[in-house]
Amino acid sequence: MRTLVLNAGYEPLAVVSFKRALLLVMNERATVIEKVDGQPVWGTRATYDRPAVIILTRYVRVPMSRRVPVTRRGVLRRDGYRCAYCGRAASTIDHVLPRSRGGADSWENLVACCLRCNNTKSDRTPQEMGWELRVTPRQPRGGEWTVRGTERADPVWKPYLAHAA
Ligand SMILES: [Zn+2]
Repeated sequence: MRTLVLNAGYEPLAVVSFKRALLLVMNERATVIEKVDGQPVWGTRATYDRPAVIILTRYVRVPMSRRVPVTRRGVLRRDGYRCAYCGRAASTIDHVLPRSRGGADSWENLVACCLRCNNTKSDRTPQEMGWELRVTPRQPRGGEWTVRGTERADPVWKPYLAHAA
């Protein structure tokens, strides 16, 4: 069951799982404007209406230029599955500027990273580690990076929804 998310100006913004929608509602970031009748959601403390459509309480600004959506797989692919710090095989992605310190989920702030470097770096910056990036992370260009079908709805809007939450 999926929920349509409307921006505060009523324009459709994204389709998310009803669980995520409920979280936005429970955190008072959104209100339910249409529910699914007869299918309540049983929480631990209360019963909730299953949201069909929710509207964000605060307007989320969406940039005009359409960016290539950031995905974990996309970052790994862009960096050739090589760790941006040590060059070994990478299976994880790392926030260059850690998220805990305001680092964004963006092409420019995400790099492929091996598990070892990722664990060692933790929530520090490369500068603090005395590490150098082997690549300059950028948004990839070209049609091959267009995400099609079902992958589209969530990754495209995730950064904005995260911002709203
Ligand atoms: Zn590494």
